[in-house]
Amino acid sequence: MALRNVTGARCTICGKVVPAGPETTTCPHCGGILDIEYDYDYIRAEIAKKPLAERPDPTMWRYMEFLPVEGIGKRPRLRVGGSPLYLADALGRVLGIRELYIKDDGQNPTASLKDRASAMAVVKAEEAGRATIACSSTGNAASSLAGNAAAAGLSTFIFVPSRAPKGKVAQLMMFGATVILVEGSYEDTFRISAEAIDRWGWYNRNAAINPYLMEGKKTVSLEIAEQLGFKMPDYVAVSVGDGCTIGGVCKGFKDLYGAGLIDRLPRIISVQASGCCPINTAAAAGTMEWTPQPENTLADSIAVGVPRNPVKALRAISESNGVVVNVSDDEIMAAMRLLGANAGVFAEPAGAAGTAGVKKAVELGLIEKDASVVSIVTGNGLKDVNNAIRAAGEPMSIKPRMDALLEAFDAKGIKVPK
Ligand SMILES: *Cc1c(COP(=O)(O)O)cnc(C)c1O
Repeated sequence: MALRNVTGARCTICGKVVPAGPETTTCPHCGGILDIEYDYDYIRAEIAKKPLAERPDPTMWRYMEFLPVEGIGKRPRLRVGGSPLYLADALGRVLGIRELYIKDDGQNPTASLKDRASAMAVVKAEEAGRATIACSSTGNAASSLAGNAAAAGLSTFIFVPSRAPKGKVAQLMMFGATVILVEGSYEDTFRISAEAIDRWGWYNRNAAINPYLMEGKKTVSLEIAEQLGFKMPDYVAVSVGDGCTIGGVCKGFKDLYGAGLIDRLPRIISVQASGCCPINTAAAAGTMEWTPQPENTLADSIAVGVPRNPVKALRAISESNGVVVNVSDDEIMAAMRLLGANAGVFAEPAGAAGTAGVKKAVELGLIEKDASVVSIVTGNGLKDVNNAIRAAGEPMSIKPRMDALLEAFDAKGIKVPK
């Protein structure tokens, strides 16, 4: 049955509009990536009938008329969305920003923003009558798919590069996924997963290929807007790998604008690692022609040398009059420490990269000190404890005696008031 709020799926390359069914993936005419389009008058009327403020559901599904689903059915669901938006005064002062907010999406059930896309993928797979879903991922798309599918009783085949951090692999095993570690890059992993999906006909949760995933991801922007009383910040910072997240962030604001709920788009700060920044390199050169790069960063979730969604990412940057900034691994680790010590937020490297980008953008004068900025933390630090310890250091260690404690304090220069 056709969805009342969705008008179709428009190809980002040839511009043709095709019907949006549960199995719709890329454009049947040219293979381009599709973008789900809505009837904004209908959405506006629905919101007027049932104001958001009166809805008890705290999850991403509270924005039902903005989403390409009829409903979420009867199966059990994880509680995705409704993550906190903190006004981070202390961290703002350290970074030299007047008004800084942290949107902590590491608080989703499998601890990353990817839960928003995977929850959507599971519902669409059910609509399509499928019991098995597959994807390739740098790690978080995989663990979120495995978790959200497990809750609903679906099975998963997951392809991840063997470099994926232990925490993410542990999640996959715990959620009962069939896990295939691929000895190669993310590019290699994506290729073999695509072949396997073709061969066995599983439901495809690969980023970019499936246009519904971005519709899940965009709910982070709907939440930010609602949490700020629909008053837009000047900037929203997010880290970028394949480009689906930044595309989703932008799509959320565009849909809100289309439905008349906000009066302008915030400028999006696109943050990549200097060791792997194909999208920002193209954006900075003002071209859509990107070139593959090596995957040279500790931020595994954004170590994407061949981005799968460059068109939507580059459009998100240009349509929002965005800012691009690349950060080194040292700058990412510094941001992890700053987020932890000044905001109490524990981020994995790619989760902290957005905040590293905000810091650097201020230092470079790319954004104004009196700006209001939302920095999205996309993933939780417990997923990658090795890099967390590398960033934060080892604690002091003592024999269980007071003289040893005093000695250790002395050695560290710690003075404890009596
Ligand atoms: C996937 C991911 C990103 C980047 O999203 P893309 O869609 O690949 O650009 C950033 N941070 C974390 C923690 C992620 O898992």
